[in-house]
Amino acid sequence: MPDAICFGELLIDFVPTVTGVSLIEAPAFQKAPGGAPANVAVGLSKLGVSSGFLGKVGEDAFGHFLAQTLEKEGVDISELRYSQQARTMLAFVSLRADGERDFMFYRHPSADMLYAPEEVPESYIRQAKAFHFGSISLISEPSRSATLRAVEIAVQAGLLVSYDPNLRLNLWESAEAARQGLLLGWPYASLIKVSAEELAFLSGHALGEQPALSELRAAAHAIWHAGLELLVVTLGAQGSAWITRQGAGLAPGFSVKPVDTTGAGDGFVAGLLHGVLSQPSAWHDPQALPGICRFANAVGALTTTQRGAIPALPDRRQVQHFMEQQP
Ligand code: ADP
Repeated sequence: MPDAICFGELLIDFVPTVTGVSLIEAPAFQKAPGGAPANVAVGLSKLGVSSGFLGKVGEDAFGHFLAQTLEKEGVDISELRYSQQARTMLAFVSLRADGERDFMFYRHPSADMLYAPEEVPESYIRQAKAFHFGSISLISEPSRSATLRAVEIAVQAGLLVSYDPNLRLNLWESAEAARQGLLLGWPYASLIKVSAEELAFLSGHALGEQPALSELRAAAHAIWHAGLELLVVTLGAQGSAWITRQGAGLAPGFSVKPVDTTGAGDGFVAGLLHGVLSQPSAWHDPQALPGICRFANAVGALTTTQRGAIPALPDRRQVQHFMEQQP
């Protein structure tokens, strides 16, 4: 039975075979396994943490391809669900020449959206140590209720609950619906990872390109909740910032040549959870946090150095080797 369970969407990203084109111009697409919580499950497995994935794919070729991919990476998929009603979610994603991402989703509905609360495996969750979830499964019913049911089981069973409220505005009806939806998962989590953009969006505090720690802290405290022990803000090449009720600090990023930043945030979360699970009694201690965030920064940085998310996620040996080489 896995120590860490990741809950949410598992999908195929179709990525153009050439870079710097819009979806209109793209001549052909390559399939890449995707879905933030699934990437985290693979990241954890590669780092040596036993992980399992909960979600739903279509009973179709793409669903089976995704299941095989996770299984090959050592993720437990014994409780993965398959839908006869809807197909595996697809996303066509292109990085245009101007640096903007072009997204097109096939989910009308897709299998992941149909995960129902009665399909949540209670005893499977109860035996784990950590539960991680995202916000895509909170967008519509029945997967919203299934997510909340799974999180409630995790909280009741005393698991460490981790949340990554990924902001994908075009999947929500409006910005306000997105804000409300992202905040639905908020009060359950003792550990939350956000980007500076997500923190600004949720808190209503404007944050510039390179926000100061004091600004991040003020924004975080505006939306702090009673059970929250640690909020970590990812800052791209600058690294990350950790904020607890009493303290805060910056963990500087590593210098790498990024090729594709897809999955960096998910790799970072896997690195963070790896650290937190290895120090269960001390993870929100200001003494431990610089080291934990440094390790997570290294995982995130390495994930940017190769194309794709899952193929780029490093194993523990690669992370250690990379960190030892740093000045
Ligand atoms: P997200 O916005 O998905 O949370 P980020 O792009 O901030 O993710 O990346 C997550 C983490 O990965 C960062 O906190 C950092 O540690 C690392 N990282 C991302 N981009 C770079 C980069 N260009 N150089 C070095 N590290 C990076």
